[in-house]
Amino acid sequence: MALRDDFPILQRKVHGHPLVYLDNAATTQKPQVVIDAMSDYYSQSNANVHRAVHTLAGEATDGYEGCRTRLKTWFNAERAILTSGTTEAINLVAHAWGRANLTKDDAIVLTEMEHHSDIVPWQMLAEERGVEIRYVPVLDDFTLDMEVFEASLVGAKLVCVVHTSNVLGVRNPLERIIKSAHAAGAKVLIDAAQGAPHVRIDFDAFGADFMAFSAHKMCGPTGIGALLVRPDAFEEMQPFMGGGDMIETVTTEGSTYQDNEHKFEAGTPRIAEAIGWNAAFGWMETLDLEKEHKRMLEIARYTAKELRGMGMTVYGRHDDGDSAVVSFLHPKLHSEDMAHLLDAVGYAVRTGHHCAQPLLNRLGISSTVRASYYFYNTMEEAEQFIAQLKIILERFA
Ligand code: PLP
Repeated sequence: MALRDDFPILQRKVHGHPLVYLDNAATTQKPQVVIDAMSDYYSQSNANVHRAVHTLAGEATDGYEGCRTRLKTWFNAERAILTSGTTEAINLVAHAWGRANLTKDDAIVLTEMEHHSDIVPWQMLAEERGVEIRYVPVLDDFTLDMEVFEASLVGAKLVCVVHTSNVLGVRNPLERIIKSAHAAGAKVLIDAAQGAPHVRIDFDAFGADFMAFSAHKMCGPTGIGALLVRPDAFEEMQPFMGGGDMIETVTTEGSTYQDNEHKFEAGTPRIAEAIGWNAAFGWMETLDLEKEHKRMLEIARYTAKELRGMGMTVYGRHDDGDSAVVSFLHPKLHSEDMAHLLDAVGYAVRTGHHCAQPLLNRLGISSTVRASYYFYNTMEEAEQFIAQLKIILERFA
């Protein structure tokens, strides 16, 4: 597969075996163009942004702002705030919008399917402000209980929902969620950490008020992500971190703030990371994302079917639109043991609660083994993975 050649890490061996990287929901690998773009910045253009008139500062500023421009075009969004990732983007909404707009008489709607980064910031806000949190349950078919969701909207000011579950791969019915929430007068935050890497999202047409995601899950570097914000919600946000770059004027009496995204990007930003992320978008642009998404889903369906045939419990359904994440458990062999045995022959999978303890509690388990596929994975790798698991079960289960 030609595109694998773009990823140097895929050439390496682990314990003497070729690496089969199936931990893409945690983080994806980086193509050479991303590594080169970051290295070029440090070796040729390194300077701080926005402040100086010299050539290097201009190049650094163009590189950093180029990422923002790319985000706005890629997602059709008017406002793109650069953050350290999904987690910081959600915390930014809690601090900059939540603290300015929510009081103890308000409610927030979350789901049992959320990643901890879309639960803990709201629990902290609830503790501070007395805001009520309501959770939409997950049904036995791994979907949200939409009846409870609709009922929970009464008096709600904000709905926070994961685009695609990092444990189940289930894509939520976001169009309906956004429509109902807006009809009830609530704003909507989408955690698209797992959605944005797999499908093209038109943020404006989508209609959500906030959307958070991370570069490192879509071939970009760690340490950078974004919060897309609709213009009316943007106007309702108050600065969270104070410092350089976010101000218009500062006197000893007080300060005024910038009126664009810089208002929420105090201090020296992630310049090399922005440049690397922009290169990642450039690389992804060469792919037919829809076709790739279908191909990965086919691999996930094959994996899930084979695992069920081997007596494993698979958590997820792999419907059209879901992501290529396969979470599973063997009735006897512990997930950690299975992951160690797989690592010994070069397979990288994730185990544990995947930062979604409420969901795992709901499923009555404390851990799964998770294989998650991305563009550079092949059906042959999935077949080898299944064959390897059969060998492990024969020997150890
Ligand atoms: N939300 C979901 C659904 C995720 O899968 C993740 C990461 O695994 C996050 C949020 C947090 O992303 P980050 O650690 O990049 O901030």
